[in-house]
Amino acid sequence: MKIGVYPGTFDPITNGHLDIIKRSINLFDKLYIVIPSNMSKTNLFTVEERINLIKLATKEYDNIIVCATPLLTVEFAKQVGASYMIRGLRMVSDFEYELQLSTFNKKLAPEIETLFIMASHEYSFLSSSSVKEIAHFNGDITCFVPDVVEKAIREKYNK
Ligand code: ADP
Repeated sequence: MKIGVYPGTFDPITNGHLDIIKRSINLFDKLYIVIPSNMSKTNLFTVEERINLIKLATKEYDNIIVCATPLLTVEFAKQVGASYMIRGLRMVSDFEYELQLSTFNKKLAPEIETLFIMASHEYSFLSSSSVKEIAHFNGDITCFVPDVVEKAIREKYNK
């Protein structure tokens, strides 16, 4: 069975993440979307909220499992028997960080390959943080995120 892991913060999931999922899903029998649960970053959504939003946004796929892990993502990948980790690349600025991360991961788990998928041009500028910033200033984010996420962000900022 071909198993892949797509790790990320997903705070929250955007149409850019969904595009990467849509384009990689057929490579695998099972794709884990996994959130590291012990990251120090301060996030708008809790891990549980992020998992729930990803589940709602990907409910059309029956071979996706969404979860959190306290483990390093390569350790998680080993535990679930995955051979591949998926990452998206937007701008040149992503490259340096992703190269460093994938080199570390290769050292820690040589049997796991990182596959990079280039962002579609319409999403190459899109990040979770820009979506939050626009929403914070009451801008229109409907074309950047699924409807469930748009609603959830509005609720957060209107509290
Ligand atoms: P992380 O904190 O791990 O970078 P993110 O949730 O920001 O978590 O992103 C997870 C992965 O998705 C990363 O590989 C990132 O480059 C990729 N990604 C984020 N936004 C996009 C996008 N608009 N298009 C393609 N890939 C993206």
